[in-house]
Amino acid sequence: MTFFTDNILNSLGFFAKTEQNEAFLQLLKNIGEISAGKIAANAAAVDKKGCSLENGRVKLCKETVENIKLLRDTGYLGSSLPVGFGGKNLPRLFAMAAVEMISRADASLMTLVSLQDIALTIEKYGTEDQKRRLLPGISSGETSCAMALSEPGAGSDLQAVRLEAQESDGVWLLNGTKHFITNGDADLLLVLARSEAGSKDGRGLSLFILENPHDSTVTVTRLEQKTGINGSPTCSISFQNARCELLGRRRFGLIRYVLELLTGARLSVAAQALGIAEAARHEALRYTSTREQFGNKINNFAQVRRMLDNMGYEIGSTRIMLYFAANLIDVSAAGSETERETASETELLSSILKYGASELANRIVYDAVQLFGGVGYLKDIVVGRLSRDVRVTTIYEGTSQIQVLSALSKIKNGVFSNIMDRELEKLPCDGEIARIKEISETLSRISDLDPAKCDFFAPELVEASFILLRLVLLKKFSISQNYAQFVDLDLLKSDFLVKNILL
Ligand SMILES: Cc1cc2nc3c(=O)[nH]c(=O)nc-3n(C[C@H](O)[C@H](O)[C@H](O)COP(=O)(O)OP(=O)(O)OC[C@H]3O[C@@H](n4cnc5c(N)ncnc54)[C@H](O)[C@@H]3O)c2cc1C
Repeated sequence: MTFFTDNILNSLGFFAKTEQNEAFLQLLKNIGEISAGKIAANAAAVDKKGCSLENGRVKLCKETVENIKLLRDTGYLGSSLPVGFGGKNLPRLFAMAAVEMISRADASLMTLVSLQDIALTIEKYGTEDQKRRLLPGISSGETSCAMALSEPGAGSDLQAVRLEAQESDGVWLLNGTKHFITNGDADLLLVLARSEAGSKDGRGLSLFILENPHDSTVTVTRLEQKTGINGSPTCSISFQNARCELLGRRRFGLIRYVLELLTGARLSVAAQALGIAEAARHEALRYTSTREQFGNKINNFAQVRRMLDNMGYEIGSTRIMLYFAANLIDVSAAGSETERETASETELLSSILKYGASELANRIVYDAVQLFGGVGYLKDIVVGRLSRDVRVTTIYEGTSQIQVLSALSKIKNGVFSNIMDRELEKLPCDGEIARIKEISETLSRISDLDPAKCDFFAPELVEASFILLRLVLLKKFSISQNYAQFVDLDLLKSDFLVKNILL
C-alpha cells in the first residue's frame, strides 16, 4: 500500500521532467509507503494521546516520535535545503506531494515536519556563520523548529506584534509572550518582534533566530487542548531576557521575510488540506462500495455518485493548481523569471490556494461524514477525526478572510489577469476557452467596481478566480474532458458570479 498514487505521479509529470528527477521520485515513493503504512496506522493513537506539558517541557506521544524518526530516516527533513547544508535541493513541487501524503496519513505530523521549512528563510537571509551553524542540524532532523509570530493581541493583524526586542552591547534580548505557537518548545525558533521602540506598524518589526536554551528565559507556559491535530503541540511561550540574534536586516521582519515565509507555508497548508480531503475521499469510496440500502450499493445512487466524483474533481484539479504555483516558485528560484513579478504571482496564488483548498477540503470531509450516514456521527471513526483535523486549515497561516483580502488586492492590481492572459495565450481558442476568456476579461474590470460592492462580494470574486484558473490548467494539460460535467458546472458558476457582480 502506498499514498504515492498515480494521480499524484501524473500531476507531477505535467510540470517535472521526471527522468531528471529519479531520486526525488524515489524519496516520494518511500514517503508514500511510510505514510500509508506506519504513520496511517499510528494516527488514531496520536489523535487520542496527543501531547503533554511536563515540567515545562512538551512531550510528544511515542507514536509521533516514531513517525518523525521514520521521516528523518527517509532523508525528508530539511530536504528542501541545498546539498551543501545537508539538504537535497528538493523542489517545492515535490515537497507539496510529500506534504499531501503525510497529511493524508496524519495531518498533525505535517505541522511538525513542515516547520523545518524555516530553514529556507535562514538560508536566504542568514549570515554565512548562521547558515553554517544552524542548517546542518535542521537537515539531519536533530534540530526541531518553530515559527513564533502570533500573540494574544496580534493574530490576523501581525503589525500589532508587541514582543520587545532590545539590543544592548551587541546582544539582542526578547521580552514578552507569544501564543498558539506550533511546536513552541522547539530547539530553534524564528521570532517576530518589535525591534524599533515606539513604532506602531509592521515596519518596526524584525525577525530573530532564537536557539532555545530550554531554561527560564524561554518558558512554555501553556499547551492548548484543541479540537483536532492533537499530535501537534500548540504552545504559549514567555520570553524573559531571552538571547537571540537578528536575521537579515532590521525592520524587514514582517514586510519581507515573514511575507515570503508565509507564501510557502500557505501552499503547505493547501497541500495539507488536500491530503486530509484525499483521506476522506478514500474512506467514503470504501464505505459506499460496501454499504447497501434499497437492495443496492449506495455508491450506485446518483447523488452519492456525484458527491464522490466531485471529491475526485475538486482534489485533482486543485492539486494541479498547487503544483503550478509550486513550480512557479521553483522556476523563479532558478533565476529564470523576474523576481518581483513572480513574487507577486506566487503570493497571489498561495492566498487563492490556501483559501480554495482549505475551504473545499472542509466541504469534502463534510460530505464524507454525510456518506457514512449515522456511522459518520460516531466517535472514533476515521472521518470523525478528519472532520476535526481539517477545521483548522481555514484558520491558521492566515484565515480564509485574510486570504480573500490579500488575493483581492492582487486581483485588483492586475496580477491575476497577467497569469490568466499568459496561460490563455498558449491555448487554442475553442468554445470553452472563449468562455473562460470572456469571464476573465469581465473579471479584469474589477478595479472599476464600487469599493463597497467589491468588499461585499470579495469571497465570490476570489472563488471565481480560483475556479477560472483551475479551468485553464485543466485545459492546458488536456484533462478537462475527464471531468466534463464538473467543468460545465464550474463555467456556469464563475460566469454567474462574475457577470452578476461586475456587469
Ligand atoms: C492549531 C494552531 C496552530 C497555530 N500555529 C501557529 C504557529 O506555529 N505560529 C504562529 O505564529 N501562529 C500560529 N497559529 C496562530 C494562527 O496563525 C492564528 O490563530 C490565525 O492567524 C488567526 O488569528 P487569531 O486567532 O488571532 O484570530 P483573529 O485575528 O482574532 O480573527 C478572528 C476572526 O476575525 C476575522 N478577521 C480578522 N481580521 C479581519 C479582517 N481584516 N477582515 C475580515 N475578517 C477578519 C478572522 O478571519 C477570524 O474569522 C496557530 C493557530 C492554531 C489554531
